[in-house]
Amino acid sequence: MNAPVNPSKPAGKPAQASPSPASEERSLNFLEQIIEADNASGKWGSWDGSKTPRVHTRFPPEPNGYLHVGHAKSICLNSGLAKKYGGKFNLRFDDTNPAKEEQEYVDSIIRDVKWLGGDFDTGPNAGGLFYASNYFDQMYAFAVELIKKGRAYVCQLSGDEVSARRGTPTVPATSPWRDRPAEESLRLLDEMRDGKHANGAMTLRAKIDLASPNFNLRDPVMYRIVHEEHHNTGKKWCIYPMYDWAHGLEDSLEGITHSICTLEFENHRPLYDWFIDAINDGRGPDSEWGMPIHHPQQIEFAKLRPTYTVMSKRNLLKMVEEKVVSGWDDPRMPTISAMRRRGYPPEALRNFVTDVGVTKVESYIDVGRLENAARDVLNKTAPRAMAVLRPLKVTIENWPEGKVDELDFVINPEDAAAGKRKVPFSRVIYIERDDFMENPPKKFFRLAPGAEVRLRWAYFITCTGVEKDAAGNITGIRATYDPATRGGDAPVGPDGTPTKKVKGTIHWVSAEHAVAAKVRLFDRLFSAETPGERTGNYMDDLNPNSLETVDALVEPWLAQHASYDHKSLEGARFQFERLGYFCIDKDSAPGGLIFNRSVTLKDSWAKEAKPG
Ligand code: ATP
Ligand code: MG
Repeated sequence: MNAPVNPSKPAGKPAQASPSPASEERSLNFLEQIIEADNASGKWGSWDGSKTPRVHTRFPPEPNGYLHVGHAKSICLNSGLAKKYGGKFNLRFDDTNPAKEEQEYVDSIIRDVKWLGGDFDTGPNAGGLFYASNYFDQMYAFAVELIKKGRAYVCQLSGDEVSARRGTPTVPATSPWRDRPAEESLRLLDEMRDGKHANGAMTLRAKIDLASPNFNLRDPVMYRIVHEEHHNTGKKWCIYPMYDWAHGLEDSLEGITHSICTLEFENHRPLYDWFIDAINDGRGPDSEWGMPIHHPQQIEFAKLRPTYTVMSKRNLLKMVEEKVVSGWDDPRMPTISAMRRRGYPPEALRNFVTDVGVTKVESYIDVGRLENAARDVLNKTAPRAMAVLRPLKVTIENWPEGKVDELDFVINPEDAAAGKRKVPFSRVIYIERDDFMENPPKKFFRLAPGAEVRLRWAYFITCTGVEKDAAGNITGIRATYDPATRGGDAPVGPDGTPTKKVKGTIHWVSAEHAVAAKVRLFDRLFSAETPGERTGNYMDDLNPNSLETVDALVEPWLAQHASYDHKSLEGARFQFERLGYFCIDKDSAPGGLIFNRSVTLKDSWAKEAKPG
């Protein structure tokens, strides 16, 4: 794809603005307020000659890593605004730095944006997929124009010399090349492009203000020499544009109206505006330069910063390279691909970033809110099942050998339509090791010698004995069941109340029917709320116990439904009763099931499992 021939043309058709509903459920955030004011004044409609209000946003990642949950916020925000106001949403790769960028990242970003529902290529709000590198020719032409207008020059100071001469707030910067003739700069820029100079030998700089209190305006670099192959343009270029020079042009060429970025770009905004104004200076109906180009508005908001994790791609890359995680999609990572692998539904991420809201003030967000968002969605959608993570054998002495009972199991109490299924029960079952204590403390309501508990959806059992090995370790227990409690309820007496009560309810699997599985239990990757705060190195706060893998036994229905979709990259999701939400991992196979725990349960089991 090439850059549009006429840069004053918007990339997408003018969109219809939908009036906001009369009764807003929440007040407008500051971005919505700006958009509504712009729509009311016809600010963007007037640009393309029509009076139709227009909203066009974009998500502009640099393909130098996998996207993280902070990017999810930007994606949902930008695509959400386009949707809300009947506008367009672009995905654009800000691929101006060949040294760090790779096709693998491009592919993963496209996958993740789509998965989150950022519709850039289908549907009414699709604005398209773009690459900044496709604008390199156009950008070069703009640079030539600025040199001819006396607004840019080739500077032969080295990086170190520029730093040494950058001045102080009260002392201006200097460059001996500032006043060189335009023809000389034009010739050198061509030479730079043609590969005649080494990396760092010279740069193209904007001639702005060497005394500006905003150092970004002290003649910033527009082009630097980088002899490096690019994932999209190959060997065509050996000069690459700097972010500030490139970004506004990318937005302009695509007809973006609201260029939404994070707060660290606030003091780059004068530069964003300066470049477009400098190009437009002297443009008009009778100008040799042509018509003015579109001038989008840059607006900043605060980054999303969840606790107990790090966000920057650079930091995440280091963890991948140093193998402290298994890869970008290690389920403990804060990346979108990791969360998908961990079993978070896209809706959970969307709800989380929307719930957090958008502001201009930086603050940490409790990562527990993300976990809660996952629970909320999974609670409504995940089928329930039983799995035992640390099995303890229970032999039910009064259950006939070989007899199997098929018990009704409610698939999802939150979703009546999910219905029921059968779970086999037999003489030998497994329960969670933690659910038995030989010498329990007072308020232990689970199994102990002589104590009675409810087996979820099955029967009441009473512990009658303990089996031990020579070393005294418990190897199993014996129990009896009460046939009158089938389904997990005691019979009702003449007065209408249950004839007996038990306090504890535990889960189980039938030994002869159970299937072996590996289950990965995750804790937070960092043990500090703000990793790196203590020592300056976030790696010092890695939690050494963030991954535990256990050999579990799961009910047969789970094995039958343990699907992994290699297209959507999602594994089937379940709630294991009392243990949390789990999903099938991508490495799972029929003979070697692997589950990931997405998140633990919020509510105590006692509350949820209360019968009737
Ligand atoms: P990183 O430091 O992780 O590489 P970045 O800002 O350099 O982040 P880009 O690929 O340049 O990453 O960002 C694409 C878009 O995502 C930008 O508009 C950026 O402002 C936004 N973004 C990045 N991090 C966050 C965050 N934590 N919260 C919200 N938006 C973010
Ligand atoms: Mg970056």
